[in-house]
Amino acid sequence: SDEVFGRVYGEIRGALQKWEQDGRWNTILHAGLRDTEAATIFDRIIAKQIPSSVVFEDERVLAFDDVNPQAPTHVLLVPKQREGLTQLRYATEDHEGILGHMLAVAAKIAKQKNLQGYRLVINDGREAGQTVFHLHMHMLSGRHLSWPPG
Ligand code: AMP
Repeated sequence: SDEVFGRVYGEIRGALQKWEQDGRWNTILHAGLRDTEAATIFDRIIAKQIPSSVVFEDERVLAFDDVNPQAPTHVLLVPKQREGLTQLRYATEDHEGILGHMLAVAAKIAKQKNLQGYRLVINDGREAGQTVFHLHMHMLSGRHLSWPPG
């Protein structure tokens, strides 16, 4: 209702929208990312609204037992902040930190569990068997894993 305020607000908002269009934020880590996709069951597991058997947790990653295990050890490693990674194909340089961290966490879990051999799997896309659209890595161990995989 305030005319002067309305004008200043419009100018600032217009300038910000132009910066957004021009990719002004894209060079700042994470600032250019927008994740508007639907939440998944993993958000509720991360928020502890759904119970899970937690194997490892820090501020960036939650690892828990898969509810439908495909091997004696079947752990899922999930980034707590999805940041656009519904699928691995959307990874950018901004995600290198979390992706590298997930591999380092997998190595830590393998050491903790004294796994003799294990396989890490990321299903990207329904065609590859992906059912939950929040990036995650499967860690499989405890039985012979054939190659090529099915
Ligand atoms: P993907 O098919 O690669 O998307 O993997 C999704 C995985 O999430 C499957 O292996 C499911 O068994 C697993 N999963 C789904 N719901 C839960 C849950 N509530 N707790 C643990 N694992 C789950």
